[in-house]
Amino acid sequence: MATGIGPAVRPDVDVVVVGAGFAGLYMLHRLRGLGFSTVVLEGADGVGGTWYWNRYPGARCDIMSIDYSYSFDPELEREWQWSEKYATQPEILAYANYVADKYDLRKDIRFGTRVQQASWDAAARRWRVSTAAGDEITCRFYVMATGCLSLPKSIDIEGADRFGGETYYTHHWPHEGVDFTGKRVAVIGSGSSGIQAIPIIAAQAAQLTVFQRTPNFSRPARNGPTPQQKLDAFKADRDAYRQAARLSQAGVAVPITQVSALQVPEPARRAVYEAAWDSGELLPTTFADLVTSAEANETFCEFLRGKIRSIVKDPVTAEALCPQGYYYGTKRPCIDSGYFETFNLPHVRLVDLRKTPISTITETGIRTNAESMEFDAIVFATGFDAMTGAIVAVDIRGRDGLSLKQKWADGPKTYLGLTTVGFPNCFLVTGPGSPSVLSNMMVSIEQHVDWVSSTIDHMRRTGLETIEPTSTAEAGWVQHVNDCADVTLFPRADSWYMGANVPGKPRVFLPYIGGVDRYRKACDEVAQQGYLGFRFEGAAGAVCNDGVIRRLQPDVTIVLEVIESLGLPPVESMPPQAARALFDALATQRPPGPAVGEIVDGTLPGAAAELKYRLYRPATAGPHPVVVYYHGGGWVLGSHDSDDPLCRDLCVRSDSIIVSVDYRHAPEDRFPAAVDDAFAALRWVSSHAEALGGQPGPVAVAGWSAGANLATVVCQLGRDAGGPAIAGQLLITPVTDADMTRPSYQQNGERYLLTSAMMRWFFDHYVDVANRSDPRVAPLRAGNLSNLPPATIVTCEFDPLRDEGAAYAAALADAGVDVQHIFARGHIHSSLTMVDLVISGAPYREKMAEALRRYLPRQQQPLLRHKLA
Ligand code: FAD
Ligand code: NAP
Repeated sequence: MATGIGPAVRPDVDVVVVGAGFAGLYMLHRLRGLGFSTVVLEGADGVGGTWYWNRYPGARCDIMSIDYSYSFDPELEREWQWSEKYATQPEILAYANYVADKYDLRKDIRFGTRVQQASWDAAARRWRVSTAAGDEITCRFYVMATGCLSLPKSIDIEGADRFGGETYYTHHWPHEGVDFTGKRVAVIGSGSSGIQAIPIIAAQAAQLTVFQRTPNFSRPARNGPTPQQKLDAFKADRDAYRQAARLSQAGVAVPITQVSALQVPEPARRAVYEAAWDSGELLPTTFADLVTSAEANETFCEFLRGKIRSIVKDPVTAEALCPQGYYYGTKRPCIDSGYFETFNLPHVRLVDLRKTPISTITETGIRTNAESMEFDAIVFATGFDAMTGAIVAVDIRGRDGLSLKQKWADGPKTYLGLTTVGFPNCFLVTGPGSPSVLSNMMVSIEQHVDWVSSTIDHMRRTGLETIEPTSTAEAGWVQHVNDCADVTLFPRADSWYMGANVPGKPRVFLPYIGGVDRYRKACDEVAQQGYLGFRFEGAAGAVCNDGVIRRLQPDVTIVLEVIESLGLPPVESMPPQAARALFDALATQRPPGPAVGEIVDGTLPGAAAELKYRLYRPATAGPHPVVVYYHGGGWVLGSHDSDDPLCRDLCVRSDSIIVSVDYRHAPEDRFPAAVDDAFAALRWVSSHAEALGGQPGPVAVAGWSAGANLATVVCQLGRDAGGPAIAGQLLITPVTDADMTRPSYQQNGERYLLTSAMMRWFFDHYVDVANRSDPRVAPLRAGNLSNLPPATIVTCEFDPLRDEGAAYAAALADAGVDVQHIFARGHIHSSLTMVDLVISGAPYREKMAEALRRYLPRQQQPLLRHKLA
């Protein structure tokens, strides 16, 4: 045995790999190359996994074969030429066999060997793996390469075993093929497998009846030769071609767009969709927000429904084939060869199970609640217990006999989709929590295999015997996986991505949707940071660099990446005028925020001169409560424009009038000019609430950052001056102190847009050092914080101002003020203001609006609908 690990008890082999699909084959090749003794256990009688089992007519890949192939050996790439754009199952299986032969892999694969149990023997620090035949093999490392779509889901249709005719399963198709000539055939299921098989079966059968529960989005595959452009790009620079796929969102290099479907006029949008329809590709470039915006996604759904209606001649059948009730992409979309056209054939019929569900399968056919039909053959294309099914089908027992199935009873928990707490030296290839099924699987498989094999190699080189993720790292990753899913439309669909296709399976989004590129980066960073979040044990003791690899919200990360890519100079290196111009220019690039009923610009008397204000009125009937809002920008930058989307959002969500008031800025007008103006504006708006169309009575104040500082300062001034009355204060990431030594400054002062240097620049422009403890600058330092209006204080995890916001919330609470402290996990100082850009901020924006609604209850039922200007 080649490993340098000093085992307590020497195992039979270094590594057991379960599965000889593309993952298991490459794993074996890599480990062997590193000198680890490895055996692959495979239930089938041959290699190929998916492509060994799924031999149904029409089975092909739907990622172009040039991309859906190994990239680890340029020689293999030169030797193997695909005959068409989307190779058939026999060709892909031939490729798997070619690979097995080329690298002489078969000698270490035990075929016809199903693994039933695997248990960790802690004393011996090895796995004991048992097969269905009763054999046991021990190993140091246990790798599940069992596939995401390899365990079929059980047939959950009454009477399925009663049928006396021929029964076929797409995932377990007879090797000799099936001849349907002259037969009455039923196909149940219209996912990718059904959609591929149906046109071919229809070409043979005397009668074909398709039983469809949920219609699927599908576009023409336009199969043929591999596009010349692709071949040329590959030939020109093979390494660059492959690297682009590895660093892409889904494992296929396609142009990225930042354009929203809602930003372009309908003809331009349609042109993009027509191009997608014509492309014959599963992953064409469309618009940036189809994954996140229901409204944007619906434009594509309706386009695709239009195509179905234009192809399928019978309008009732066409309508039944039109997907409704879920968003494009949230169930795996398909590309097809003549699928919709098949329903124009006279011997093909669609049964819409949403209208007439199957009551039972009988000895001779299928009965729905409307009729009985007789068949010679039934084909089940009903899918898989995806991502977790094949893993927990093996009774895997980790430390202290912990069962993986039990651990995952409420949904899988992994670190990076590669490992799971309680199961030392156990690796999953393309496991739940990794991009896997949301990617070109070849790219994901290679990345996982490379990571696992280099980790095992690292352990050998450093004398480490066991590896296991920490609970902190795993919980952090599970959170990140969910955060990524939650900003998308995916969790809303009843899909196999959500486990919704298998009765009783917990409803959890299974793959990682943050992207192949970002995922790879995370895995690499984990390794570079001394295997962050892993605990190793070896002869020299334990090593652990505990931590969480991704804590920022995924959309905040994207914003930071985009801003970094602009290469902007630091704000504090600019004169204020230039910084303002930059601030304004950036503001023009972002989404506008929601539509409100009315926007009115006006002026009001400030402390020294007229001040501008902008009023946002809801579209609902008034009169509405009134909120005075102060924009952010460090008392130096900012205007109504800079905070416009947030004001719109607050207006719509809180159903209140938002009056965004201006104030004099530093350094032209230093402290206390801004405070004086803020208070003057409050007084004016309070006394003109009704004239502005608002309801009489106290107003609320709100603000962001320096604006939140002013908002709370005017609350203190109002209290001391005996008015105006303020119903509540909403302080979003407020400046409450001038002390820059708090831990949040140390932790977050450099990387998250608002930096310590920028805060210093703001303070220097705004206020003399001698005045920085004045409560009108540092409201936290006010001697008396009692009798202030109820407060909602929002702090963000990665904000330098986080701790002073929290300190202010605590101080107000100590002083008896009614305080709600909202902590925004994974957010930065400015992310909650980024409406429609940072979608993960929406729940917090909703909470803020709730607070305003609480402070400002509607005084009367609206009688008249407010007239829009
Ligand atoms: P698999 O190919 O599923 O191999 C797993 C192997 O493990 C199987 O051979 C199985 O028998 C074996 N196994 C499982 N459990 C045990 C056990 N307990 N004991 C012993 N052996 C066991 N992905 C794409 O990216 N592009 C495509 O175009 C594409 N088309 C697909 C078409 C179909 C019909 C299906 C079903 C999937 C498709 N996929 C596609 C996903 C496909 O599964 C992956 O691309 C890839 O083939 C998975 O390889 P794998 O080695 O990880 O798993
Ligand atoms: P699937 O997408 O899960 O489709 C299963 C179909 O069966 C669905 O239409 C489902 O309806 C239906 N169904 C399940 N149980 C049913 C029941 N009890 N009664 C009636 N209908 C029922 O499975 P799949 O088609 O095998 O594809 C699985 C995945 O494999 C794909 O999403 C894809 O990732 C991969 N694949 C790829 C290709 C390719 O083109 N390369 C081909 C095949 C598979 P509901 O939607 O209502 O549950």
